[in-house]
Amino acid sequence: MVIEDKKVVLLHYTLTQGTEEGELIESTEGREPLGFIYGVGMMIPDFEANLKGLKAGDKFAFGIKAADAYGEYDESALVEVPKSMFEMEGKIPDGLLVQGNVIPLTDQQGNRFQGKVHSIQLETVMLDFNHPMAGVDLYFTGHVETVRDADPAELEHGHVHGPGGHHH
Ligand SMILES: [Zn+2]
Repeated sequence: MVIEDKKVVLLHYTLTQGTEEGELIESTEGREPLGFIYGVGMMIPDFEANLKGLKAGDKFAFGIKAADAYGEYDESALVEVPKSMFEMEGKIPDGLLVQGNVIPLTDQQGNRFQGKVHSIQLETVMLDFNHPMAGVDLYFTGHVETVRDADPAELEHGHVHGPGGHHH
């Protein structure tokens, strides 16, 4: 059975930055495999395109440019806000405004989102709302562990059940 639409794919991968020798971003080796239903829009389209037609046991190695993954880094997604915005009972909590810290925020409509502290000035903080992987070229190596038909419940839920997927 080969990877095509509506198949469940379980695979192990190692994700590095730019090339196979690049900085390690994440890996499933030694953990549960990644499980997903192919062709239902869960994954980066280029990621799926590179896996099409593979079968259990096949290895893969391919790169995806940032623009085709999580997007280019966007300078306009840097927003300067007053430090006073983070005050709780008149005081900014210790350790909150630290460069690189990811801060959970809520907008006026109650939507939750995250901003990363990019830089800190005297009275203001520059928050970065880019995706953490924006501007990063991705490189995947790994192997396909399982290709099987998705069962009706999996197709209905849009995710894999059991190993590599949801346990419910
Ligand atoms: Zn489910």
